[in-house]
Amino acid sequence: NYRCRSAFKLLEIDDRFRLLVPGQSVVDCGAAPGAWSQVAVQRVNSAGTDPTAPRGTVVGVDLLNISSLDGAHFISHHDVTDPSTHGKLQQLLPNGHAHVLLSDMAPNASGFRELDCENLISMCLTLIDLAEKVLLPGGSLLCKYWDGPLTHSLQEKLSCVFESVRTVKPNASRKDSSERYFLAKMYRKPVK
Ligand code: SAM
Repeated sequence: NYRCRSAFKLLEIDDRFRLLVPGQSVVDCGAAPGAWSQVAVQRVNSAGTDPTAPRGTVVGVDLLNISSLDGAHFISHHDVTDPSTHGKLQQLLPNGHAHVLLSDMAPNASGFRELDCENLISMCLTLIDLAEKVLLPGGSLLCKYWDGPLTHSLQEKLSCVFESVRTVKPNASRKDSSERYFLAKMYRKPVK
């Protein structure tokens, strides 16, 4: 049983693109109530359910409380966009590194659609800073956004640091919503 129907979006994306592999370390941004983390725990074997496969790590963070889950570490009441949260995430990751960053974050609705879109895009942009700190070269990022005028600028910024960036609209996502995901693969650390 999943904590939320959103699990089916990640299951669908992972079945299609083979994002999560046993043994990997995953950061789940905007993890509450924890359905994506449940999927990630199963797919990276972080609860050690399959003793023959390598055991991964799942670390989730949210502004809200996230109830505990076997195989996951949660940082509740923390803002992913705040750089001080990044250090706490690093401490919970093996060697401070992650293979995959997931973000299903969504800001509180302001009532103004364009503003909500912009807010979500700025949140996604901070994930690029988090990637620079924790994401391993060759790693992946899956992040939710709402399609709007700034979509292209987010895509461009992702393309600067990932070899491939594609748009995904899972079937489990409502057809009439502007919700989309960017799946960015093959991270290369920016040269400073
Ligand atoms: N993927 C989750 C699951 O399957 O259970 C559902 C995520 S829900 C759609 C979006 C979450 O993003 C909310 O719980 C919200 O509190 C969180 N969120 C929004 N802004 C955030 C921020 N700046 N830092 C951390 N979490 C945030």
